[in-house]
Amino acid sequence: MTDDGLAQVEMEPTVRAAAEAARGFMPPDEGLALFRAGVAAGRAVPGAPLLEVGSYCGKSGIYLGAAAKEVGSVLVAVDHHRGSEENQPGWEWHEPDLVDPEVGRMDTLPFFRRTLFHAGLEPFVVAVVGSSPTVSAVWSTPCALMFIDGGHGEEPASVDFECWTPKVAVGGLLAIHDVFPDPADGGRPPYVRIYLPALEGGRCTEVAAVGSLRVLRCTAAA
Ligand code: SAH
Ligand code: MG
Repeated sequence: MTDDGLAQVEMEPTVRAAAEAARGFMPPDEGLALFRAGVAAGRAVPGAPLLEVGSYCGKSGIYLGAAAKEVGSVLVAVDHHRGSEENQPGWEWHEPDLVDPEVGRMDTLPFFRRTLFHAGLEPFVVAVVGSSPTVSAVWSTPCALMFIDGGHGEEPASVDFECWTPKVAVGGLLAIHDVFPDPADGGRPPYVRIYLPALEGGRCTEVAAVGSLRVLRCTAAA
């Protein structure tokens, strides 16, 4: 499958270049599909926000912030900015310069803010700094697009599924990153704990697959 089910719209070249240059974990083809999913979702559910769980330094935030701008909406970007388990010292995806020396913990928020500022997307992106389940507990607005790219362990992936998938608006899209059906390609929790349960529930059907990005349309109430 490709991104045929998404809005066939191009990104502004300067914004696309900013996204490709930004720090983080989002290949260009998957990012473009994410932008197109955001535009498709914003058109399908006008006025509803886009929301991402897992912002890191703002790379996916550019793609989705650009989509929000295109459809006259906003992106709500949820992250505690302390990094996932796999971003901590000693793990595979650790970047030492992201540690705040004063508190001795990661802090990606300043990098996130610079990324969105330089891309000219600050007016279209609202950062919410907090842990995913804590924010979810006080979040009730249905979202046109929900992008889940937070912690990729069994527990955080299960929690994100439970917390956020019910908040996709009817007719909206659920996008999931790092979905690897073949264990040889990467860690399985986003596939087993988010993607499969979302399809099994019967509420969502797949509309696009690009790299490890999967986009599902949710056609019934949670
Ligand atoms: N979308 C990003 C990559 C996200 S990396 C990009 O395009 O580059 C995963 C992010 O999820 C990290 O920034 C981490 O801080 C965040 N995260 C992990 N578990 C979380 C939790 N429980 N609550 C909030 N954020 C979390
Ligand atoms: Mg990811």
